[in-house]
This record gives sequence, structure tokens and C-alpha cells, in this order.
Amino acid sequence: MTDAAEIKMRFLYGLRSKGVTDGRVLTAMEKIDRGDFVTGIFAERAYEDMPLPIACGQTISQPSVVGLMTQALEVSPRDKVLEIGTGSGYQAAILAELARRVYTVDRHRRLVREAEAVFAALGVTNITAIAADGSHGLPDQAPFDRILVTAAAEDPPGPLLAQLRIGGIMVLPVGQSDAVQSLIKVRRTPEGYDYEELRPVRFVPLVEGLGQD
Ligand code: SAH
Repeated sequence: MTDAAEIKMRFLYGLRSKGVTDGRVLTAMEKIDRGDFVTGIFAERAYEDMPLPIACGQTISQPSVVGLMTQALEVSPRDKVLEIGTGSGYQAAILAELARRVYTVDRHRRLVREAEAVFAALGVTNITAIAADGSHGLPDQAPFDRILVTAAAEDPPGPLLAQLRIGGIMVLPVGQSDAVQSLIKVRRTPEGYDYEELRPVRFVPLVEGLGQD
């Protein structure tokens, strides 16, 4: 086996051992190479199960957390998905393997621009990346079948709850920015919203307004 194949095998094995067992999610994470989304001095650590720094003081999430969140979102091929927090674009590219269309929003224009360049280089055509404050959602494209938030808010933002289709699922970290946060799964029913707490997580905070760059 080549080094690259062995590294990839270990990466996938590591995901499984942390509870990522959904076959479609694993296939998507086998196809989308995290190394394409990490640049500079951290590139060689792309296959380690840890968050890594990216531009604008942000982070690309830990792969097992990406896998567990994607799995919890139960994405199907016809879904229109909204992601808040484009960051490196890694999570969006995995969602794009599983869904019909992905809208991803980040408050840093630079991150949106750089993620778009990676999507283009990889030939991914079903992602629309937008620079905006994602705490307002994306009213023009609503409702969404699935919403994934990759930055932590103190409570689920009202506009995102409102933009979730009935029968839809939203997965998001909730809690104080520097304390322990909980990953929450929200299902919208005809009567209201059901909340399920999945696990403790730690994400960068959801910050209001557009960033400087
Ligand atoms: N999903 C990313 C990791 C995201 S890190 C990946 O796969 O790499 C969290 C991101 O949320 C950061 O890029 C940050 O800029 C963004 N963010 C924080 N608050 C936001 C807001 N109000 N609207 C949009 N993006 C926001």
C-alpha cells in the first residue's frame, strides 16, 4: 500500500472508531480530501483528528466531529442544505456529496472567496457560497430541508428555526462561547420543534455582523 492510501485508511478507520458509521457519510469523507482545505504549515496534519487553524483566526473542525454532525443531519440526495460557517469549505464539500444543493454562508469574505476557489478546482458545482451574517439565515432561499451551523450561538437563532422546513432537521452547537457547548439536533414538526442533545463540543462563537476581511 502507498503511504497516501495508508494515511487515508487510517483516517477512515479513526472516523469509524469515533462513531461515524453511516456508509454514505464515510464514502463522502473518503472522496473529499481534507488536505485540499488545509494550507500552509498545517497541511501535513490534515489527516489527524483535530481542529486546525485556517485564515481569519478561524478553524477547520475536527474530522470526527464533521462526520458525527453530518451523520446526525440525515441528509438525503434531494435536500437543499444551508450551512452557517463556511470556514475552509470542507464541511460544505462533504454536504455537497450528499445533498442536491448546498448554500454556505460565512461572515469573512476572504474565507468565502478561498473556499469558492477550492470548490472550482475540485469541480464541485452544487455549492453557493455567500459572504453574510449567517445568524439571519438566507431568507431568499428558505425553506431548507437541513441546516448545519458550525459556530456556537447561546441559543438556536430564531431566523434559522423559522427557515427550517417542516420535517426538516437542524444540527448546531449551543452554549457560551468559551465554556462547554452542546451539539443539539432540532427537528421541526407540524406542531413545533423537538430538541435532542447529542454530545459536548467546542466551536468558535457565532459572531454577528460581517468581518473586516
Ligand atoms: N465548517 C467550517 C468550519 C467553520 S469555523 C469548515 O468546514 O472548515 C466557524 C466559521 O463560522 C468561521 O469561519 C466563522 O467566520 C464563521 N462564522 C461565525 N459567525 C458567523 C456568522 N454570524 N455568520 C456566518 N459565519 C459565521
